[in-house]
Amino acid sequence: MTNDILVYVEHLNGAVTDATHELLATARSLASQTGGSVDAAVIGTGASNLAGALGGADRILVAETDDFGAFNPQGHASVFSDVVAARRPAITLVPYTSVGMDVGNHVSVSNELPLVSYCLKVDAADGLTATCQLYAGKIEADVEVDGDRAVFAMLAGAASADDGRTGGVGAVETIQESVADLAVSFVGLTEPEAGDVDITSQDILVAIGRGIESEDNIEEAQELADALGAALAASRPIIDQGWLPKTRQVGKSGLTVKPKVYLTLGISGAPEHLEGMRDSSTIIAVNSDPQAPIFGVAHYGWVGDLFDFIPELNDRLDG
Ligand SMILES: Cc1cc2nc3c(=O)[nH]c(=O)nc-3n(C[C@H](O)[C@H](O)[C@H](O)COP(=O)(O)OP(=O)(O)OC[C@H]3O[C@@H](n4cnc5c(N)ncnc54)[C@H](O)[C@@H]3O)c2cc1C
Repeated sequence: MTNDILVYVEHLNGAVTDATHELLATARSLASQTGGSVDAAVIGTGASNLAGALGGADRILVAETDDFGAFNPQGHASVFSDVVAARRPAITLVPYTSVGMDVGNHVSVSNELPLVSYCLKVDAADGLTATCQLYAGKIEADVEVDGDRAVFAMLAGAASADDGRTGGVGAVETIQESVADLAVSFVGLTEPEAGDVDITSQDILVAIGRGIESEDNIEEAQELADALGAALAASRPIIDQGWLPKTRQVGKSGLTVKPKVYLTLGISGAPEHLEGMRDSSTIIAVNSDPQAPIFGVAHYGWVGDLFDFIPELNDRLDG
């Protein structure tokens, strides 16, 4: 075993994701506790071009291959598991994303390591401990690892992505990349439909959630958005109902947005939603439940009925 921290590098279309930079920031602070180094393993198409984007790492382990397409759960996870087996890092970090969980589960099972998910914070000062989010953020659990090695799946926003972009380029090492008998193969990426508003480039977003209750009520929210010069965005249930197109979905399985103002109406603030909007400059939440987790990230909040809030704000904007 080493004192090192190993980071799984998530990347898509030739770019390292923000989630990876957040992992690197977490890894740097953990390395200062363990005295180890920060290693980043980057696997797949274009891997060797990404070393320059991994400034937070001391060593970059590159497995360049086109065999896996954009992402192959078996291929990426097998190669990464082999890295963990060979290097025996004290701490392995994966993002709590659909990619990260495919990889994290595989690494945990094949290396017989505990996997701690939904992590907001990991600490190595006195054994391995973590703070994890439960029940859509309503409860936090302090977790102690039984043993001196573990895999942690970090929630988006647990660290600053910018902090994980600093530092020079680490030493690059090439690692093995072949996996025999892949049972699944990558077919293609489905990009969101073109032609709709691009919510990722808006300054102001009005985001509606299940609290809007029915499709008919969306018009009222749209009027408010128009009055504010904003675009309408939504949580996943609104998209799943078919009330707005997928291009308006914010969150883990939708888009990541960072507008100047993000006004939520009837959104609870589940981790999967927060993942897509928590870096907005100003977050304003309207929710009738004072315990709603959205108030944990909001800069301004109003506890009350959104159907009182919308006409009141519309009136003031008219006046
Ligand atoms: C793998 C996976 C991926 C996911 N990806 C996403 C994603 O990309 N984006 C996403 O958003 N979710 C995603 N989810 C779903 C997520 O877990 C939540 O279920 C979802 O975000 C909840 O949406 P919501 O806040 O609109 O609804 P709810 O959680 O039902 O919250 C509704 C809120 O409205 C409030 N409310 C009700 N009536 C009123 C009123 N009249 N006035 C004011 N407030 C009111 C309630 O107090 C409540 O807090 C994903 C889940 C999984 C498992």
